Amino acid sequence: MSLVIEGASLLGEGTTDLYVDDHGMLVDSAPAGAERIDAAGLVALPGLVDLHTHLREPGREDAETILTGSRAAALGGYTAVLAMANTTPVTDTAEAATRVWELGREAGLVHVQPVGAVTRGLGGEELAELGLMHRSRAGVTVFSDDGRCVHDARVMRRALEYVKAFGGVVSQHSQDPSLAGPAACCHEGELSGRLGLPGWPGIAEEVIVARDVMLARHTGSRVHVAHVSTAGSVDVLRWAKARAERDGTWSVTAEVTPHHLLLTTDLLAGYDPTYKVNPPLRPQEDVDALREALADGTIDAVATDHAPHARHDKEHAFVDAAFGMVGLETALAVVRTALPQLSWPDVARVMSATPARIAGLADQGRPLTPGSPAHVVLVEPDAALTVDRDASASLSRNNPWHGRSLTSRVVHTVYAGRVTVRDGALVDA
Ligand SMILES: [Zn+2]
Repeated sequence: MSLVIEGASLLGEGTTDLYVDDHGMLVDSAPAGAERIDAAGLVALPGLVDLHTHLREPGREDAETILTGSRAAALGGYTAVLAMANTTPVTDTAEAATRVWELGREAGLVHVQPVGAVTRGLGGEELAELGLMHRSRAGVTVFSDDGRCVHDARVMRRALEYVKAFGGVVSQHSQDPSLAGPAACCHEGELSGRLGLPGWPGIAEEVIVARDVMLARHTGSRVHVAHVSTAGSVDVLRWAKARAERDGTWSVTAEVTPHHLLLTTDLLAGYDPTYKVNPPLRPQEDVDALREALADGTIDAVATDHAPHARHDKEHAFVDAAFGMVGLETALAVVRTALPQLSWPDVARVMSATPARIAGLADQGRPLTPGSPAHVVLVEPDAALTVDRDASASLSRNNPWHGRSLTSRVVHTVYAGRVTVRDGALVDA
């Protein structure tokens, strides 16, 4: 089905029409008999790309499936998501990665790109089938033990050496387990002491970030720092990126989550497990440093760390509840609310073009010009959005934004020329 998107503001500048042929490609003139979308007053961006999504299938289909997660992604304006490997079983073989990729294609709402585990079973010791996963149909290029840190320096070094051969990247969950163990759940400080919650100090992240950039430099490889949460990590990244650019032989990239850009550790005062996330929410000074680092390019991308959980895993005393919060449907609005000064070209850079480049997804994140696949999101820029967790397409309700007012709203999403979301609602297949 061909499509004409009429009168959109491309990246917030001049008004234009976008034409999509029936192969799902952007073309330079209106195809005959095309479906029309009135986009007057809407900003057109390339479809968003999420480097960090938990889809829970296989193993926890009560919390999310590849289909329901794809629906949530489309509603959030995404056209590609990277599905983290900490499923049950773990995505640590070519067969498992290919299965996730196939289920994503069957859902057909966004490109679902599997992330492969770095180590077998996320055990942290033996490397997973990195090469086989890369050579599979899924073409895995991003590897992560996310949920756990690859804490053994020798294993991390070997993983970096291995992925270098095919231009892959290791995405690290930076948490030194000797400084912040599995129970650590609250930023270590005055508040964690007062609440009696196990502390998760910023230094536990910073020492791993520092170590990994040195390992990337030593091996001439690529490391990506997942969900950066502290000002100290930003300092390390700033040094490392300058150094990597000068050397030209290795690289470091980093992502920040929407929630770390807007929420602070003070929210834990009521022991509400909705706000239990890993890494934990940090004080305002860290939030300020993260915003500045995203705006100046020290942090490359926004990634949701969408982490759906069934009620019975989240509704516990704070220390026993699962880590994580959902985020696909609200990410763009949270970024717009946290950083209203960020220009639309910058939003497109940090939420689409750069994540696509980091993940090696050549068809995604491209400028909306003829010859590119038609992955488009259309946003009502100044809409006030009040979040209702029960209106979500996700199977889970661990939504920290419920009842909050955010700025901007995803109105339409187009994936490979197909309208997946129209007027804020999913279009059935
Ligand atoms: Zn993580």
